Amino acid sequence: MAYKITDECIGCGACAADCPVECIAEGDGKYVIDADKCIDCGNCADVCPVAAPVQD
Ligand code: SF4
Ligand code: SF4
Repeated sequence: MAYKITDECIGCGACAADCPVECIAEGDGKYVIDADKCIDCGNCADVCPVAAPVQD
């Protein structure tokens, strides 16, 4: 089960900086997670100021 980023994302980039497998990239208006690479560690959810990453 991978994480995904909801529309709550404000594009701060904190999650991408903290992802151990570098599977988060800046997308169109928000950041996006490559679900095939996500190892489900939860770092992105922990550092996000608006709780945008959620388990899919
Ligand atoms: S759960 Fe971990 S591996 Fe998956 S996107 Fe978030 S920080 Fe990266
Ligand atoms: S930490 Fe949260 S608000 Fe910042 S880019 Fe990641 S998902 Fe978006």
